[in-house]
Amino acid sequence: MCTKGNLVLAGFVASVLILAVAASGCITTGTSKEKVLVVGTSADFPPFEYKDPSTGNITGFDMDLIKMVAQKAGYDRVEIKDMDFDSLIPALQTGKVDVVIAGMTITPKREQVVDFSAPYWKADQAVVVRKNSDIRVSSPDDLKGKVIGVEKGTTGALYVKNKLGNSVTMKEYNGYVAALQALLNGQVDVLVLDSPVANMFTSRYNVKVIYTIQTNEHYGIAVRKGNKELLNKINKALNEIMNSPDWNKLVAKYFGG
Ligand code: GLN
Repeated sequence: MCTKGNLVLAGFVASVLILAVAASGCITTGTSKEKVLVVGTSADFPPFEYKDPSTGNITGFDMDLIKMVAQKAGYDRVEIKDMDFDSLIPALQTGKVDVVIAGMTITPKREQVVDFSAPYWKADQAVVVRKNSDIRVSSPDDLKGKVIGVEKGTTGALYVKNKLGNSVTMKEYNGYVAALQALLNGQVDVLVLDSPVANMFTSRYNVKVIYTIQTNEHYGIAVRKGNKELLNKINKALNEIMNSPDWNKLVAKYFGG
């Protein structure tokens, strides 16, 4: 039989236990020493990061790459956090994620607020239209007067803003799914986005690439500014991977060939 006194005692013991768990910040398990690399990405950028249509899991070139990097750098696993592209750098700065890998171009402006790994991929900006469109572009000037869709916070958006300014109408979208919808619906005339992703879209949607703007961009993995320890580990791992047969396998897996 349970007396009132025992109940009070049991309640007290339970509270102490709850407090102890809360204070430790986590419920520890047998694998409490597990080292987890928290990765920020924006999963609508195929083939770098996207949701597998059949499973809904986030997959892609960058995801495989960061898993390989993490393993070499001594992590047990990665945890992927998916968000809008323009939330990634703030998430890194506020410690919500440890690294960002998202086909992110190394730019001087971003380098003021985060640190980048060595480059791992090259890209330019592509001009994408509906497959049945008769828009022709043979120089960026031909974009004047057009309604241009871009993804917020990207180098494509920056290019359109800085190089074309008021001569065009720029519409910013939070993701490429929405931007593509806008193009297919006729709400915008063209999209400006990274060339490797634009090429991938041509095989999945009713769109075509009509022009490439040579912007000579390089993708890097971003870490918090001054996080030298992690950056060194990432660069070492990246260098090993890029000089191993694994690199060609990874490229073939996502780009064919
Ligand atoms: N490379 C471009 C940038 O860094 C676009 C990246 C993306 O949309 N995921 O801005």
